[in-house]
Amino acid sequence: MKVLVMNAGSSSLKYQLYDMKDESVLASGRVERIGMDSSIVTHEPADKAEVRDVSEILDHVTAVKRVIDMLLHPEHGILSDISQIEAVGHRVVHGGEVFKSSVLVTTEVKQEIKRLFDLAPLHNPAHMMGISAVEANMPNVPQAVVFDTAFHQTMPEASYLYPIPKVLYRRHKIRRYGFHGTSHSYVSAQAAALLEQPLASLKMITAHIGNGASCTAILDGKSFDTSMGMTPLEGLMMGTRSGDLDPAIVPFVMNKEDLTLNEVNSMLNKHSGMLAVSGLSSDMREITEAMAEGDKNARLAFDMYTYRLRKYIGAYAAGMNGVDVLVFTAGVGENSVVLRQAVCEGLTFLGIELDAAKNAERSKEARYISTEASRVKVLVVPTNEELLIARDTYELAMAAGTEQHS
Ligand code: AMP
Repeated sequence: MKVLVMNAGSSSLKYQLYDMKDESVLASGRVERIGMDSSIVTHEPADKAEVRDVSEILDHVTAVKRVIDMLLHPEHGILSDISQIEAVGHRVVHGGEVFKSSVLVTTEVKQEIKRLFDLAPLHNPAHMMGISAVEANMPNVPQAVVFDTAFHQTMPEASYLYPIPKVLYRRHKIRRYGFHGTSHSYVSAQAAALLEQPLASLKMITAHIGNGASCTAILDGKSFDTSMGMTPLEGLMMGTRSGDLDPAIVPFVMNKEDLTLNEVNSMLNKHSGMLAVSGLSSDMREITEAMAEGDKNARLAFDMYTYRLRKYIGAYAAGMNGVDVLVFTAGVGENSVVLRQAVCEGLTFLGIELDAAKNAERSKEARYISTEASRVKVLVVPTNEELLIARDTYELAMAAGTEQHS
């Protein structure tokens, strides 16, 4: 079975075509600048050269049509007929409290996703455009939705409620949802497999450290707590997001600087974090390079970033009354040797002992970076959210097919 995975944004659409026989990626690509006159389609077939096409793509229906054209193209394509795509899986950022796992798209599911627009105004409407665009181009193909929040729906009340008037939860569903759930779920399962132990038997902390960053405590195989909150702004310091701060700063700054809600939102989401502290960049590579050349602000940004991450790891170890496994993943977590070293150096009290040589190894494989003697096993596990979306979609489509035939 071939499964197409899609991640639709407001002006972009990323895709991967999987052959579920061996979970290989047959092609991947992206459409950028949807809604503009010079939209770009970049298509990367697995064993052929990359192709780029610039044209006018005014909406998501046309964007999906262009993706299909690429997949069927006599030269760069890999399919002879569109019916070879047997299911489509979508990444959806917010599933609220309704979606605790991935589901097949139905009229009711679409209505629920629309009801959640309020909680993810930048993301969910774009995902819906992606779903409708696939419906318009491939009306008979089953579609599945895989939510960033679903994995965290197992959190206990003590983790997900905020200490504010309860009426706000009842009226507006203000609570911690957590994000990057697909990644935390994928890497925790991979880590347990590498350790050859059941996930449910391990106290695990997964650190997804990329442009966005979140840390999750996994107890009994389930998300027990996570650092992102009602929105992806809470928690760790990130590339351009502040993460945790005193909430009283928001009205104070709005008053002193005469800022609107939109302006303060933009300040905290796009102009804070490493970018603001370093005054240089949100990219960890540039920060570590500048730090090595003696840049004091880059050093401070790095120190704040790693200190805040260490505090979360310590807090979650306390929350679970112990930790057996620490996993690093995503762009920074998978690649930054110095970040992992700085974080682990301050956690020796937990029984973490990093193996410097293993930490310095460059590899795309899941691996240990702690010593044999380390009480807490430290792992680097490359994340693969698309593969998990493809797997969930495949399983849901297969189950529905079996139901239909039984
Ligand atoms: P992601 O959001 O998971 O794609 O992660 C993107 C971030 O990973 C970038 O902003 C970089 O800061 C970081 N990154 C990627 N490669 C490296 C590297 N070799 N060393 C340090 N950071 C890296």
